[in-house]
Amino acid sequence: MAFTDEQIMIKDMVAKLSRNEILPLSKDADIAGHSSPEIVKLLVENGLLKMALPEEYDGINADYTTIALVVEELAKVDASAAMTVFVTQALINIMKQWANQEQKDRFFKKMFAGDKVNAFSLTEANYGSEAAAIQTKAVLEGDYYTITGNKIFVTNADIADFTLVFVRTGEGKRHKGLSGIIVEKGTPGFRLGKHEDKMGLRGSDLSEMIFEDVKVPKENLLAGPGKGWDILMSGGADMRAYGPGAMAIGLAQGALDYALKYAKERIQFGKPLSELQGIQFMLADMSIQIEAGRSLLYRTTEHMDTNPEEQALRKRLVSSTKCFASDVAMQVTTDAVQILGGYGVMREFPVERMMRDAKMIQIFDGSNQIQRVIVSRSLL
Ligand SMILES: Cc1cc2nc3c(=O)[nH]c(=O)nc-3n(C[C@H](O)[C@H](O)[C@H](O)COP(=O)(O)OP(=O)(O)OC[C@H]3O[C@@H](n4cnc5c(N)ncnc54)[C@H](O)[C@@H]3O)c2cc1C
Repeated sequence: MAFTDEQIMIKDMVAKLSRNEILPLSKDADIAGHSSPEIVKLLVENGLLKMALPEEYDGINADYTTIALVVEELAKVDASAAMTVFVTQALINIMKQWANQEQKDRFFKKMFAGDKVNAFSLTEANYGSEAAAIQTKAVLEGDYYTITGNKIFVTNADIADFTLVFVRTGEGKRHKGLSGIIVEKGTPGFRLGKHEDKMGLRGSDLSEMIFEDVKVPKENLLAGPGKGWDILMSGGADMRAYGPGAMAIGLAQGALDYALKYAKERIQFGKPLSELQGIQFMLADMSIQIEAGRSLLYRTTEHMDTNPEEQALRKRLVSSTKCFASDVAMQVTTDAVQILGGYGVMREFPVERMMRDAKMIQIFDGSNQIQRVIVSRSLL
């Protein structure tokens, strides 16, 4: 795919930022199990949290391909940092698609400085893959919706300024009664619950959100009552390509780069590992899978950028990308650990973190089984 000069410039800038400034901070964030304020500051200073904002709100109106390039470069070094960026861009993209002018003015002006983090809150303790059955309620009383319920597994929850919360507003059964509403940090009755201590992506916060009679202005409802499912199926689905899809390819490339360098330097039986055909074939397979995954990723984002009205192919490509790329990341990071042998499973080397991070991508944002359900439905 031919990238524009601007896209290549941004990609190079993020590659340098990742290697020189983010990498030295990644291991500590992984060990701490929390997002790193220093990394978030770097993302802010480099305009990466506001790149999708329209130009009149001081963004660069980054398209899906540009966001994917940034997410991929970050994930080569630190998939958690990539997670913070893509989830924040996802709410901006959803708002570009679904918010009215008043909402865009109000929220985008608050995001103008580029220091705001966003979150997307759908999952509940009893409803993960079965998102249409969520129970968190929002009842209209005068000028406010009153929200009651609990959400779990919310990425960026601890640092988010704005959260798109999916709620049940109507009597309509399952997906028909759902809506999306924006809740701001500090709204009375809205607080964080348990912070998850997870296997991978440990530098990205994941927490419970508790809503106890939280009054949110009715003007914060996106696109009107009952539009929640449409939001989920459009902008909510789209992020799977430039989010987990791009993260997975970056992560896999980062692991291959590391394993390749190691294989050339590590001497066993009097020669570098890279001269053993068994290792060469592993490296070749890793590279083949990454190239295939990257081609699919940018084929998908190009389709999204150039055919905004087309939906059927878009849906299939997006789910295929998320599923294929994260399966590639799982395989490639596992092989990278294998190539490093005993050193591969030591915390001193980054490939064990990459392998743990890859496992998460097969699960979040719709598990890979759910992506296969979507792809098969689009075929049948
Ligand atoms: C790191 C991380 C970040 C996350 N971030 C967010 C976030 O920001 N916002 C948010 O709302 N949620 C978030 N989640 C939640 C995530 O989207 C869910 O965990 C995911 O959708 C799966 O739901 P579940 O965990 O309830 O598993 P379940 O739905 O209980 O599924 C359990 C297993 O059964 C399989 N399964 C379920 N249904 C089917 C089916 N029909 N056919 C075949 N297999 C099936 C699943 O694939 C899975 O393997 C995050 C999760 C993780 C781990």
